[in-house]
Amino acid sequence: MRVILLGPPGAGKGTQAQFITEKYGIPQISTGDMLRSAVKAGTELGLKVKDIMASGGLVSDEIIIALVQERIQQPDCSHGFLFDGFPRTIPQAQALVDAGVDIEYVIEISVDDEQIVSRLSGRRVHENSGRVYHVEHNPPMTAGLDNETQEPLIQREDDKEATIRNRLSIYHNQTKPLVEFYTDLSKSQTDGPIFSTIDGLGQLDEVQARIVKALG
Ligand code: ADP
Ligand code: ADP
Repeated sequence: MRVILLGPPGAGKGTQAQFITEKYGIPQISTGDMLRSAVKAGTELGLKVKDIMASGGLVSDEIIIALVQERIQQPDCSHGFLFDGFPRTIPQAQALVDAGVDIEYVIEISVDDEQIVSRLSGRRVHENSGRVYHVEHNPPMTAGLDNETQEPLIQREDDKEATIRNRLSIYHNQTKPLVEFYTDLSKSQTDGPIFSTIDGLGQLDEVQARIVKALG
C-alpha cells in the first residue's frame, strides 16, 4: 500500500502516521524527520538545510526528491510506504509520476488555520523517534517525558507563532495546489490514486477511524 498524507503543518499527519504504519505494516517516510536527523548529526545535508528549516521555508525540490528516491529503494519499502510531509510542491508530486511511483491513496487531513496555531504551539516531540505529543490534547504519561524512553521532550524551533504563520502561508501557496493535482490525476488515470479529504478535528481515534474508512 502506497499512501500520501497531505495537510497543513500540525494537521496530525505524524500522529496518524504512527498508527497507520502499525496497522498496515508499512514504513512512515517523513521528510521532516529525515532532515531533522541530518541537521542533528551535522551532515553536509544538515548544514545545507538548517537555516531554511528554522525559518519555516521549504527545502529545495532537488534535495527532497533525491532524498526520497533513495529512501524508497530500501528493502523495507518493498510492500509500500506512507509519505508524511512529502510531496509539498507540484514539482515533487510530478517527480513521483515521472519516476513511475504509483500512489494508491492520497488523504488530505483538513484543519483550519487557528486550530493549527494552537496545535503547533502545544506540540512537543521526542527527538530521536519523532513521537509526537501535545501538552493538552495528547499529553505524555509524565509531563515533559517520552512514554517509551522517559527521555525529555522538546519544542521544535520552528513551532513558534511567527514561524508557524510563515509555514501556513507557504502551505496555502505551494502545497494546497496538490489537492487539485491529485484530484485531476485520480480522474485522468484509471489506476490513479484515490483522493479523499477528511476532517482533522476531533479526538485522535475519531480521525483515525475516518482514515481507515478512506483507505477502504
Ligand atoms: P510539519 O509537518 O510540522 O510542517 P515537517 O516535519 O514535515 O513539519 O517539516 C519540517 C520542515 O522540513 C519544513 O518546514 C521544511 O523546511 C522541511 N521539509 C520537510 N519536508 C519537506 C518537503 N517535502 N519539501 C520541502 N521542505 C520540506
Ligand atoms: P503534522 O505531522 O501534520 O505536522 P502532528 O501529528 O505533529 O502534525 O500534530 C501536531 C500537534 O497536534 C501535535 O502536538 C499533536 O499531538 C496534536 N494533534 C494531533 N492530532 C490531534 C487531534 N485530533 N486533536 C488535537 N490535537 C491533535
